[in-house]
Amino acid sequence: MNIPNIIIAVDGYSSTGKSTFAKLIAKTYSFLYLDSGALYRAVTLFALENTLIHENAEIEVDALEQSLSSLDVHFEYVDGQSMTFIGDRCVETEIRTLKVSNYVSPIATVPQVRNFVDSKLHEFGKNGRIVMDGRDIGTTVFPNAELKLFMVAGNQIRAMRRYDEMVAKGQHPEFEEVMKNLKERDYIDSHRETSPLRQAEDAIILDNSYLTMENQMAWLEMVLKNKFDI
Ligand code: C5P
Repeated sequence: MNIPNIIIAVDGYSSTGKSTFAKLIAKTYSFLYLDSGALYRAVTLFALENTLIHENAEIEVDALEQSLSSLDVHFEYVDGQSMTFIGDRCVETEIRTLKVSNYVSPIATVPQVRNFVDSKLHEFGKNGRIVMDGRDIGTTVFPNAELKLFMVAGNQIRAMRRYDEMVAKGQHPEFEEVMKNLKERDYIDSHRETSPLRQAEDAIILDNSYLTMENQMAWLEMVLKNKFDI
């Protein structure tokens, strides 16, 4: 199918399968995939390593803001996979730990951090034909995106997905901890002042609780055909 050079925004709650779906869309239709959550996670790792966020989640906002201008966060392709880098260090595994997950939502409430990530996303996506996943892509980052999807799934299913993902990476999380983290992030993400997580008015909901990847791609193909008359 010949898809025009559009922007596809994939927003939704944590662990609804946004990134898996967005990556497959990118691969299927030759789009560039951008993972906005990875940038928030990389900033969080940086803040933790430089004691710019404390154990009680208190953030040294001024110092963090000052260091952002020299923070080189970007994506590089390694064996065909998009990986997150800080300078020449691949941080893809470290940014997915429960420790980073526990601090990322407070970091993502800081307006200066959001501006930093938004400008990176615009820079990386300047040539168009991109699919991007996050929380505020369709509402704030690319409000004119031609196709906006909003993904949802049941809590138990989401926590199980995240748990399995972590175990597959050799981590040893407690299921209850994973569930608690999801709920906390959902709450902080949807209640923050700057760009809270919410469904854009023109977004189409996809509840993938019981859908396979194949089901989701078939659904998307139907949406694309209808929307773009192809
Ligand atoms: O998508 P992922 O779960 O990796 O995102 C990690 C966190 O980054 C989210 O829980 C949220 O706090 C933040 N985030 C955000 N806006 C985005 C993407 C992620 O606030 N567009």
